[in-house]
This record gives sequence, C-alpha cells and structure tokens, in this order.
Amino acid sequence: MFPATTDEVSRVVAMAHREDIPVVGRGSGTGLSGGAIASLGGIQVVLTRMKAILEIDQENRLAVVEPGVINLDLDKAAREHGMRYAPDPSSQRACSLGGNVAENAGGPHCLAYGVTTNHVLGMEVVLEDGSVVWLGGKARETPGYDLRGVFVGSEGTFGLATKIIVRLLPVPESVSTMLGTFPDIDSACTAVSSIIGQGVVPAAMEMIDSVSIKAILNVTKDVFPADVGSVLLVEVEGLREEVEETRGGIEAAMYDTGAIEVKTATDPAERERLWQARKGAFGALGTLAPNYYLVDAVVPRTRLAEMLAEVDRIAKAHDLMVANVFHAGDGNLHPCIAFDERVPGTLERVMHAGGEMLEV
Ligand SMILES: Cc1cc2nc3c(=O)[nH]c(=O)nc-3n(C[C@H](O)[C@H](O)[C@H](O)COP(=O)(O)OP(=O)(O)OC[C@H]3O[C@@H](n4cnc5c(N)ncnc54)[C@H](O)[C@@H]3O)c2cc1C
Repeated sequence: MFPATTDEVSRVVAMAHREDIPVVGRGSGTGLSGGAIASLGGIQVVLTRMKAILEIDQENRLAVVEPGVINLDLDKAAREHGMRYAPDPSSQRACSLGGNVAENAGGPHCLAYGVTTNHVLGMEVVLEDGSVVWLGGKARETPGYDLRGVFVGSEGTFGLATKIIVRLLPVPESVSTMLGTFPDIDSACTAVSSIIGQGVVPAAMEMIDSVSIKAILNVTKDVFPADVGSVLLVEVEGLREEVEETRGGIEAAMYDTGAIEVKTATDPAERERLWQARKGAFGALGTLAPNYYLVDAVVPRTRLAEMLAEVDRIAKAHDLMVANVFHAGDGNLHPCIAFDERVPGTLERVMHAGGEMLEV
C-alpha cells in the first residue's frame, strides 16, 4: 500500500498486527541487502508518496522531512538556504531518507562528516502495534536512552519512520577536487594511508580501479584517463586558505607515492562531472556485463592493498571479472563481480567467490 500520512501508516500497521500479517517498509528499493523485499509475503508499505520537505530551519540548521524524500532533493533544498545535507550515498539521486535511516547509509562525504546516524536528530515512528512515538527530537541532546540511535540502522525491523529531523551543515567557502592517476592499485592505496597519516581528513577519498574506469569511460567520455591502473578522487573543503594548504599537501603525498599525474578541479561543473562519473560507476558496469554482484565490507585502511590483492586472486581463481570502486578513506570496499547469469554455472561461481571475499 502507498500511504500518504502517518495516520494511514499507523492504521494499516495496527490492522496487520491484529491479523498477524507481516509488514515490510519500502523507500526507493535501492537497498543492497534486500530488506525492502517482502520475502514472507504480507503488506508492503511503500513510503514514496510521503515526500514532503516539511520544514527547513536555517537558524537551528535542521530540516524536518517525510521518509520518501529523495536524499539529493533534500540537499538541493538545503542549498537554497546556504546549507547542505552531508550524507551522500552514491545512490543519492534515487534513495529515500527513510531508507537511509533504516540502513544508516554512508557515502563518499561521510569520511569527514560521519554517516546518517550522526545527522539524524529524531524521528516520528510507527511501531509494530500501530502506535506512534517520537524518538529524539529537534534538540541536540535528549534525556534517557538513545532510542533514536537504536532505530537508525535497524533495517526496518523496529518500526516505520514517518517523519525525520536531520541536521544541516553550512556550505563550505571553498571546495577543491583532486584527481590522482596511478599506475596500479597498490600505489593508490599507499597514497590513501599517506594522506591520512598527515593528519588530514579529506571530505571524501574514493578509489576507482582500471576495470571500473573502463566501464565509466563507456558512459562518460574522457572523464578519467584511459589505460591507467587506478584513480583516486580526493575532495577537500573549508576556508579558502585552509583548502589551498591542504590541497598542496595531498598533491605532494600523491606524487611521493607514485602518482603519474594529479589534476585539480575547482570549477563546479567539472567537479560535478567527476562525481557523477564516480556515483554512476555501478550503473556503468552494465556496459561490461548484464549482471553484477556487489560485496560490501570494511577493512582497516592500512590493509587495503593486501585485501584488494586477495579479491583479485579469488576472482581469477573463479575465472570472474571484478571491478573495485570504493570509499578508500574509510576502508569500505565494494568488490563488484560483473557476470552474465545466462551462462550456466556462473551464478554459483559468483556466490562462492563473493563468500570467499567476505571471509578474507
Ligand atoms: C548504485 C547504488 C549505490 C549505492 N551507494 C551506497 C552508498 O554509497 N552508501 C550506502 O550506505 N548505501 C548505498 N547504496 C545502498 C542503498 O541505496 C542505501 O542503503 C539506501 O539508504 C536505501 O534507501 P532506499 O530508500 O532505497 O531504501 P529501500 O531499499 O527501499 O529499503 C531499505 C531498508 O529500509 C527499510 N525502510 C525503508 N523506508 C523505511 C522507513 N521509512 N522506516 C523504516 N524502515 C524503512 C526497508 O524496509 C528496508 O529494510 C547504494 C545502492 C545502489 C543501488
């Protein structure tokens, strides 16, 4: 069902509770763990009609939204008031705030600003029996247990969020995006540790390997250099002088660890093009194979190179193509196995390989 109000959600959930019918919430359906699929049947509560931005409060730097609001739409609306919503999953053009809350979504810019839980102040929630409660609120601190914190990341199992209060941040004075090109993935991994080792926390630091670059170039011509081992996308932001100084340090660290070239984009259109390419990477893999299986895991940053070598070894052992595009700054790997399920036996090999990668 497609409710339009909290009351409608509450009445349906109460009825389902009385009749012992399972209820599954659904935002935009981009979740990668299948939480929005009603595998046991029952009622699917699809929250896409509840998509109003109810309030943008500039003085208190917060917004009140309905759960179906699309992540990027909230950010755009906040920017009209000189603010922004920081968590930016790569799916931000499609995913909903309700889904972000349930999955405690991260994204490229969460390296510096933290994931969804660090930006949600409170929620109106419809519980299993249909009752409506508030967890947290507009204040930065609330007395008692942090039930807001328990709810964020609970994958839709504790109830349905029907209103969400989020923190907004001021838009930084200056932003600079660097594109470092590397001959291989190892040197780019060393650059990541070296940059963080300087005590700098960039706003974002994303790595894209050669297979992903090939796919991206099929969709967006010339956005990255072809025939390189990997690229590292690093963004710094803050006060103008601070950004300039940090940028210099990062550029030096990239060259010291073997970068072939480091370019800087300061023009908003150029930056947007780079980020669009990065955020569209999984979609672009469709130009290499009709299916993909995404493995999602976090490893200590200093062991990225070691882990990527293992990913490569496992893929080769199963005769599979793997693409890596990931949040390097916080060691969040996304080995993505591209395959064609129509080839008999392939899906089984993919599942085995994915399992082995997660075990490592
Ligand atoms: C190309 C691509 C890139 C992605 N990049 C990232 C990334 O960078 N970072 C990241 O963290 N994730 C990423 N994801 C995963 C996904 O987009 C996020 O988990 C997102 O938060 C899911 O939002 P959704 O609206 O699509 O939720 P859905 O898929 O509809 O639902 C996800 C879960 O949330 C529950 N749910 C939905 N709405 C509510 C609600 N109102 N109240 C309670 N529970 C609810 C559902 O029951 C389900 O369990 C990516 C996915 C894709 C396809």
